[in-house]
Amino acid sequence: MSALVDGFGRTVRYLRISVTDRCDFRCVYCMAEEMTFLPRAKLLTLEEIAMLSQAFVELGVEKIRLTGGEPLVRNGILTLVEKLGSLAGLRELAMTTNGSGLVKYAEELRQGGLDRLNISLDSLKPERFKSLTRTGELSQVIAGVRAARRAGFTSIKLNAVLLKGRNDDEILDLVNFARDEAVDISFIEEMPLGVISEHNRGETFLSTDAVRSTIEQYYQLLPTTESTLGPSRYYRMVDSPSRIGFISPHSHNFCDACNRVRVTAEGRLLLCLGNEHSVDLRAVLRRYPGDIERLKESIVSAMKKKPERHYFTTDGEVQIVRFMNSTGG
Ligand code: SAM
Ligand code: SF4
Repeated sequence: MSALVDGFGRTVRYLRISVTDRCDFRCVYCMAEEMTFLPRAKLLTLEEIAMLSQAFVELGVEKIRLTGGEPLVRNGILTLVEKLGSLAGLRELAMTTNGSGLVKYAEELRQGGLDRLNISLDSLKPERFKSLTRTGELSQVIAGVRAARRAGFTSIKLNAVLLKGRNDDEILDLVNFARDEAVDISFIEEMPLGVISEHNRGETFLSTDAVRSTIEQYYQLLPTTESTLGPSRYYRMVDSPSRIGFISPHSHNFCDACNRVRVTAEGRLLLCLGNEHSVDLRAVLRRYPGDIERLKESIVSAMKKKPERHYFTTDGEVQIVRFMNSTGG
């Protein structure tokens, strides 16, 4: 029984934690080219993240996703995975990664108790991949996907953010890659988080309905009610185990079924991706060290602040000034 119920009767069972705002990539939709990152003292320590996770699990959270920034650039990430992997009551421990560190870490992550991996992949063309991520090497990420499969991960999903005129000609190639690798894939609409100047988000917006129509020219998509507790709506194909998901923060608002909260790298509990309502849990952790009951009280009372929904528009206007890397995507 979860103790985390918000003012609209929604139960929170899923926590996403940003373990760092830093990253080895600079994806054009996520970050500006020049970024100022948080000083170390402002980040939650690994011990604080572990205690916070325990508090949430004791309050009924069943799934935790480690994200960032790039979680695999955080020192000690394997130790944290091991700690959380052994939390009694936690049903699923997941991570979202850009995949660049998976050749090195996949095996140990699996051994440490990580259940599920989401790997971001927006293009299969090396030059384009470089231009979208500014620093990334496609071959390293593809090798990372394969390393994850070899390590025994059975729940792997690719995440692709599609930008009209930039990578929307690769929809089918990405689906076929997912089919060949026997992994799932979700297509994501770009969200107006953080000020970027590289492109105009209003011009590159592509709805997931358009993506679905493109795929349906080649594959029949069968709707399912399957859920991984996240915002993806899943479809299946008749001739492949791969599922296709659509995450549509603009075109199919998913707020009425929202079961999630986020904790930023500096310990701010964010009640909604698209609103600024938040509570400073780092302050509670540092004011009352080791007092998990005090922490749980703060979390329970924060639920009252969870807003009913987000209001994103597709004109590219920024409604939220924080970037996705500090939000914990
Ligand atoms: N670095 C990891 C990665 O890229 O997978 C984890 C953090 S990243 C912020 C998590 C997810 O958010 C990625 O799949 C990324 O493509 C997505 N993302 C980042 N900025 C976004 C934006 N403005 N709109 C939609 N998705 C975004
Ligand atoms: Fe880094 Fe992920 Fe943001 Fe890309 S989307 S810059 S990989 S945090």
